[in-house]
Amino acid sequence: MVLTSLSPQENPSPAYICPLDQACSYLEEAAHELKLDRSILEILSNPRKVVTVSIPVKRDDGEVQVLAGHRVQHCDILGPYKGGIRYHPAVTLREVSALAMLMTWKCSLLGIPYGGAKGGIAIDPKSYSIGELERITRRYTSELIKDIGPAVDIPAPDMGTSAREMAWMMDTYSVNVGHAVPGVVTGKPLSIGGSRGREMATGRGVMITVREALADLGKSLVGTRVVIQGFGNVGSAAALLLYQAGAKVIAVSTGSGGVFSDVGLDIPALKAYAAQNRMSIVGFPQAAPISNTELLTLPCDVLIPAALENQITQDNVDRIQARIIAEAANGPVTLQANQALEARGVMVLPDILTNAGGVVVSYLEWVQGLSYVFWDEERVNRELENLMVQAYRQAIQQTKVRQISLRLAAYTLGVGRVAQAFTDRGLYP
Ligand code: GLU
Repeated sequence: MVLTSLSPQENPSPAYICPLDQACSYLEEAAHELKLDRSILEILSNPRKVVTVSIPVKRDDGEVQVLAGHRVQHCDILGPYKGGIRYHPAVTLREVSALAMLMTWKCSLLGIPYGGAKGGIAIDPKSYSIGELERITRRYTSELIKDIGPAVDIPAPDMGTSAREMAWMMDTYSVNVGHAVPGVVTGKPLSIGGSRGREMATGRGVMITVREALADLGKSLVGTRVVIQGFGNVGSAAALLLYQAGAKVIAVSTGSGGVFSDVGLDIPALKAYAAQNRMSIVGFPQAAPISNTELLTLPCDVLIPAALENQITQDNVDRIQARIIAEAANGPVTLQANQALEARGVMVLPDILTNAGGVVVSYLEWVQGLSYVFWDEERVNRELENLMVQAYRQAIQQTKVRQISLRLAAYTLGVGRVAQAFTDRGLYP
């Protein structure tokens, strides 16, 4: 029934946890809760369009390498497809398909008029020069020219991409169509129609969600002990905002290792250190080294996985000591681990809510661009705050009405609105 067009054997390792199977399981759970018609579930389980293009790129040494670039458009019933472009070695078509589906629920949950999409290329950007990355991005964009556009599908940054790649995408698209089209991507540099506050937006949304969850438990951010896995765009922004709000960020890690301080890390100093050390935090003074594995199981109030998927699994879930887990990454807690955490009463703030700040400010960027009126950062942050708090409150309300977990509540809202739109629009022909 599910995604018959995709081979199940993309990754043959027995330990492999398929992100797409997990995404479909959550969808099925929500469909069951909503008593959805089987045919709507069938439609929602499959992406509307899957595109894989071949990207020949000339390396700096003259060799030509051919890469595969994916774009999966899951559903556009609520508006144009929306979602990031990921450059990471672990990218697969199944992963991109799962992430595209999550984008559909995320946009719907946040009440923004978009459908879900995701794109990706399986490369480690660190192994390519800036010139090579530019050639890859431009050729990828050019191959997708008929599938993207401000009313069709609007890419944005994701893991391994940033405003720089968005500028190349915008330029390539614009040159191809013959006029400037800033609305074709979001997360652009300010100079070409980007929004103030976009870079910190996902981290800000994480901080807001954690703050609201703590408030519901009668606590505040001040003095709260936080552990963060990942110090990229999302992890570092969340760390800084939590630090500024008075939380004690006691441990942070990147792929190459982490640092721990029982009294709390000086996050501005850590950010400056990372900037001077090619984004590595290893060796940061006044902190002890800690491995990624140890970091996840530290005693703390809030654990924020802000890196890759499948970090909290059956293997380490029994050792997790956090009271709240905030999924800043997409899918960092596996299905089984999620069940174990729920059974133990750990509050899991689901990805489609917690990390939605990025796409919310993408939407605000798109709206500003379409109306040719640009806002100051305070206005952007205020709109972001309102949409995040509203979605959080609605999800909490669902947990009470339906007596379900926060994840299922978030899915129920996200999936339910999309299903309603299907019912209202009807099937063509
Ligand atoms: N890549 C981000 C996400 O996964 C942002 C997507 C967007 O802004 O379109 O939510």
